[in-house]
Amino acid sequence: MKKIKDKYFEPFISHQKILHRIGELAAEIDKKYAQQTPILLGVLNGSFRVLADLVTALTIPVEVSFLRVSSYEALQTTGQVKEILGLEEDIQSRPVIIVEDIVDTGTTLLQVREQLLRAQPASLEVFTLLHKPEALQKELTLDYVGFNIPNAFVVGYGLDYDGLGRSLNDLFILKA
Ligand code: 5GP
Repeated sequence: MKKIKDKYFEPFISHQKILHRIGELAAEIDKKYAQQTPILLGVLNGSFRVLADLVTALTIPVEVSFLRVSSYEALQTTGQVKEILGLEEDIQSRPVIIVEDIVDTGTTLLQVREQLLRAQPASLEVFTLLHKPEALQKELTLDYVGFNIPNAFVVGYGLDYDGLGRSLNDLFILKA
């Protein structure tokens, strides 16, 4: 059990399981992009760890960049996604893979996708470590999903509760 600020969290998915699953998905990406050099676009802040471990597991050459949006305040999504910040690469005619830590309602990802599509990438796929199918409110295709999880709040491995918990190697789930 972990206490972060006022909340208690239980062990959920171990670091070892996360790395194993990322390895499986990396093998799929290696195969699919064998003749290409995709740009992996991590959505900050939560994706920094999954993106690092994903590029470690990949054998194809990739470019790496990050962009930032923010839609979450503490435990509740605000439903408002701010503008995308920080995308400096020219993605026109390039294969792009968005790398997310978690897809919850899908609002963030939908807006990121729409904005990136305007820049006319050659292709646009989505990788997410975690997905909450019960919370999804948008029509979205997720090309690579690490784990489908229940509709509950998780921390660790890049994901925070009110700024804390990102450095935990394992994932933890809010105790009911
Ligand atoms: P969506 O727009 O899909 O509702 O929310 C996506 C964003 O909300 C994620 O990138 C993440 O920052 C945050 N989020 C959603 N669910 C969780 C969760 O269970 N734990 C944490 N720490 N953040 C979450």
